[in-house]
Amino acid sequence: MSEIAYLPIKSRSLYQNVSDEDFGNHFWQDKNSVVRIQQLEALLKDVISPEALEDMRGGITKSGMSIRLNPYVLSLIDWRNVYGDPVRRQFLPMASELEDDHPYLAVDSLGEQHTSPVPGLVHRYPDKVLFLVTSVCPVYCQYCTRSYAVGQDTAVVQKANVTSAQNWTAAFEYIRANAQIEDVVVSGGDISRLKPANIRLLVNTLLDIPHIKRIRLATKAISVLPQKVTSDTEWFAAIVEVVKRGREMFKDVCVHTHFNHPNEVTPAVEAAMRKLHAEGIYVRNQAVLLRGVNDDSRTLIALVKALGRVNIHPYYVYLCDMVTATEHFRLPLATAQRLEKEVRGATAGFNTPLFVCDAPGGGGKRDVHSAEFYDDSYGISGFRSPSVDPNRIYHYFDPIRALDTVAQEAWRMPGAKERILANLGFAPMAAEAAE
Ligand code: SF4
Repeated sequence: MSEIAYLPIKSRSLYQNVSDEDFGNHFWQDKNSVVRIQQLEALLKDVISPEALEDMRGGITKSGMSIRLNPYVLSLIDWRNVYGDPVRRQFLPMASELEDDHPYLAVDSLGEQHTSPVPGLVHRYPDKVLFLVTSVCPVYCQYCTRSYAVGQDTAVVQKANVTSAQNWTAAFEYIRANAQIEDVVVSGGDISRLKPANIRLLVNTLLDIPHIKRIRLATKAISVLPQKVTSDTEWFAAIVEVVKRGREMFKDVCVHTHFNHPNEVTPAVEAAMRKLHAEGIYVRNQAVLLRGVNDDSRTLIALVKALGRVNIHPYYVYLCDMVTATEHFRLPLATAQRLEKEVRGATAGFNTPLFVCDAPGGGGKRDVHSAEFYDDSYGISGFRSPSVDPNRIYHYFDPIRALDTVAQEAWRMPGAKERILANLGFAPMAAEAAE
């Protein structure tokens, strides 16, 4: 079918005896997903060393996210290069890779729960809400921004319950009552976990609200479970139906997805995208910049070009949020700024992602080049977000590892932020001083 060249992957190495029919079936993929270390040990005991397995066991006990990997994702991993593999690193933590948290990391680093008028509905920008409709995903990304609510409890994070059916009712009422809201991002969790009837209920209810003009449906399934699109006929039909109904109403319903590395763009993804594209469904990608996964321009350019070839629009590349237990993934702002310059110009402008920092505390997405100030010796930058709060500066902190020993020590002292800002000559703004 394909004339597109894909990067080599270790496809099916663990599942040689599984039929193509089973492997291509979303239900089989889900049913055979690995969610416990004992399942991983049974699967990998003859594939990786006992030391690497022990390292994984240790990593899982220290992570803020539970694990869930299906055979498709496990087959993307080159197990001969288990420490260097960019797919493994995203979904399977190793104790030896983890780093002590920066003191300003937080479970809900974007402060979503503080900007939720009803649980599960984040209202930050005047005309847009984020509607969290489920707490489950086909895989669990170890750097997840929504680690406070998504997946199972771990030893590190007890999950908040923000996605109940009562919350849906309250969210619909809030959206109906606030006519300035035009744009709804439906996320979670992952909408691929919703039943077709619930997709229809959710999107049709939103479409019927006159002031709602745009709906974005967030799913990582295109990247990690493309079989959902190609083999779950009823689910796919529900997506097609609501997108078409939106179009007939002159409203925009599109899909947002999440690829981080070109190895994830496979023939199975192309097959899924051919189906979506044939129905006129527009798909945008939101990638996260992750140390050891995609923190070089060669990989990012390959990702952008691979996505473009399967008609996925590269929309954002995020600095990794300041989430508890993700220090090993984070990169300094300076790295994001340099990578943006190196990626821009490699392909057409409309096909080039915007590199953003989702400002901690709820400032929203800011261009990485738009910091009001940046002191890279202490790794502290400040962003303004006038449409959210004109009186506030939102701070991002580079990972501790990127700083020299004097700066590392300074961050470990109580009251570090205020003292470092004062020493650098930055007085807190009124709203911050009042916090
Ligand atoms: S798919 Fe999205 S919501 Fe789910 S674990 Fe990954 S980043 Fe979090």
